[in-house]
Amino acid sequence: MKWMKNLKTYTPPAFTVIRDNDRCIRCKACVEQCSFDATFYDEEEDKVWNWDSNCVSCNRCAAICPTEAITIEKRDYSYRRNYSWESHIDGLKKRAIFGGTPVVSMGNDKPYKIYWDHMLLNASQVTNPSIDPLREPMELKTFLGKKPHSISVENVSLKTKLSPQLELDVPIMFAAMSYGALSYNVVEALGRAAKEMGTFYNSGEGGLNKDHYKFKGNIIVQVASGRFGVHKPYLDVGSAIEIKIGQGAKPGIGGHLPGEKVTETISETRMMPQGSDAISPAPHHDVYSIEDLRQLIYALKEATEYTKPIIVKIAAVHNVAAIASGITRAGADIICIDGFKGGTGASPQVIRDNVGLPIELALAVVDERLRSEGIRQDISIIASGGIRNSMDVVKAIALGADAVYIGTAALLAIGCTMCQQCHTGRCAWGITTQDPHLSKRVNPDIASERLINLLKVWSLEIKETMGAMGINSIESLRGNRLNLRGIDLSDRELEILGILPAGE
Ligand code: SF4
Ligand code: SF4
Repeated sequence: MKWMKNLKTYTPPAFTVIRDNDRCIRCKACVEQCSFDATFYDEEEDKVWNWDSNCVSCNRCAAICPTEAITIEKRDYSYRRNYSWESHIDGLKKRAIFGGTPVVSMGNDKPYKIYWDHMLLNASQVTNPSIDPLREPMELKTFLGKKPHSISVENVSLKTKLSPQLELDVPIMFAAMSYGALSYNVVEALGRAAKEMGTFYNSGEGGLNKDHYKFKGNIIVQVASGRFGVHKPYLDVGSAIEIKIGQGAKPGIGGHLPGEKVTETISETRMMPQGSDAISPAPHHDVYSIEDLRQLIYALKEATEYTKPIIVKIAAVHNVAAIASGITRAGADIICIDGFKGGTGASPQVIRDNVGLPIELALAVVDERLRSEGIRQDISIIASGGIRNSMDVVKAIALGADAVYIGTAALLAIGCTMCQQCHTGRCAWGITTQDPHLSKRVNPDIASERLINLLKVWSLEIKETMGAMGINSIESLRGNRLNLRGIDLSDRELEILGILPAGE
């Protein structure tokens, strides 16, 4: 056995890999599958061993083991208990040893209040009876884009020229996640699922691989500060163009794809040299004011002959309502507000865990502000960043959203186990990696089927809940805060959310 102290070990291991050696048949599947070198085979002893310090609890080995011999356990906290310091010791040591700020992935995992879990939905009974969603028509179709303040009709035909709209069969889209951050097969699966379900996936800031132009009609293309892969055919293939100003997981921070993830195909797609870091600066260097943003919005409208709605995506931060008002007046057709629970491929931990706002509060204040200014119909709202289930979708729409984006939920559907190692490029499930050996672990046929199943089941649950509320269309649910009640919330929180307390 070749035990050797891992010199990189700076803290006690966070997890323990427990292998039942009576069950283990030495097939070495776990050794082959572990992308974090946490498992090795000792020929002399014919035994499989673990290097617990390397285990990230991705659970790939436990899932793949044919004899179910493996259990991963979170190790108990091993330092002496100290309320002030215990959640800071590991981070402090990492900085001291490596001389850099820790980078993390996925969303903020701090135990901040999740407002979705403090909102209850209404149900209809006698005066406004419930609807049977299995036998009566329920409309989930949603149109995103600027709506007219009034319409003119002549001889039973509409005379008012409508702004370009995104037409969604379900009010759920796949959030911006770039090819580069995601593996090819995951992007393929998202595209297929979006097409099947009559919705959209979002290219993220990394351009569009030529193979994925086939999803025209179901793609939103993103223009971020790095402008990677942005050219005329790219803009043309999108049904909408999203200007990324901010991201919920890392407000005020640009994008960063490490050079090792910039493979030959990624470099072609992004139009940048292979192996070099893809850095999107925090600001767009041509946007320093709402007037500048207006110029970019209209430049993109002009470039696409006013045929596509323009989305502006911002992180939920303080003053988000005023920012949203400015974005609406700058001519955007849709705004995406991304809450601080939103995922990321890589972010400094201090930013992910301390900057931003919960999407619930941001959404409520934005909808309220736009209504009070009489400009709500000038823009549609997409809520994102922490949408976990179909009831979050219903509550988001009742709070004022027109539709939602899901990112983390989509990755979970494909197989993600939330090990928070996306930034390493070693995703054992093949999702956030460009390693060909790992990325082939995602079968696009299976992955797209799971995404389709998820959206179908959520749609059914949304219809059932709307039926219980006596509502038969998303249109009637939107901004219908009378159907929400707060529980365990302060008066001030209820006021910001614009909802009554449970019992009233
Ligand atoms: S996958 Fe399971 S059976 Fe195979 S070597 Fe690992 S622990 Fe043993
Ligand atoms: S995508 Fe992969 S690396 Fe990222 S959290 Fe999920 S399983 Fe872990």
